[in-house]
Amino acid sequence: MNAGKELIFIINVTYFCRVKHSQAFLLLGSNIGDREKFLSEAISLIEKKLGTIVSKSSLYNTKAWGARSERRSIQSDFLNQAICLKTSLPSEKLLKEILLIETKMGRTRKKKWESRTIDIDILFFNTEIINTPELTVPHPFLHKRRFALVPLNEICGGFVHPQLRKTIKILLKECDDKLDVSMVIK
Ligand code: ADP
Ligand code: MG
Repeated sequence: MNAGKELIFIINVTYFCRVKHSQAFLLLGSNIGDREKFLSEAISLIEKKLGTIVSKSSLYNTKAWGARSERRSIQSDFLNQAICLKTSLPSEKLLKEILLIETKMGRTRKKKWESRTIDIDILFFNTEIINTPELTVPHPFLHKRRFALVPLNEICGGFVHPQLRKTIKILLKECDDKLDVSMVIK
């Protein structure tokens, strides 16, 4: 290696060592059209634009007739999946990119609670607590929703909720949501 190349090599190694990677848990959901195809399309776009997917839960079907969820009772069944993402993006940029993926995949926001090709929510971002007008993390409802806790429990049951200070496994045990969430067996 000549001196120039050696310098570039050292700069690159230093750069890569300094890039801070974060761990984000995301929840994907779809309840319109070919839901499975939308989830796998979202996974591909996430890998292309946001980072590396470290783990993925199975797919879960959530019945729409959940007794206590007004929002879901007027919609079709959801297909949900939780993923663990390793990303170099800061949280606000991650949200922006997620919203772009949703729009690219045909997500519209004309009415509140309308059916969606894809919904991508940030459940956790490292162990950070974020409260800005655009972003609330940990996701404020995740501990009340079986459709978030069940897939999350499959990939990170031991993860401790940074505000509630309980593991996902315990939060799921304590959750009184009655929505039926069933694993899709393929
Ligand atoms: P919902 O997921 O509740 O159906 P939307 O997907 O339409 O709602 O998101 C509405 C807004 O919620 C987004 O534009 C985003 O700014 C905000 N938001 C706040 N916290 C989060 C979070 N943790 N994950 C994703 N979006 C969030
Ligand atoms: Mg959302």
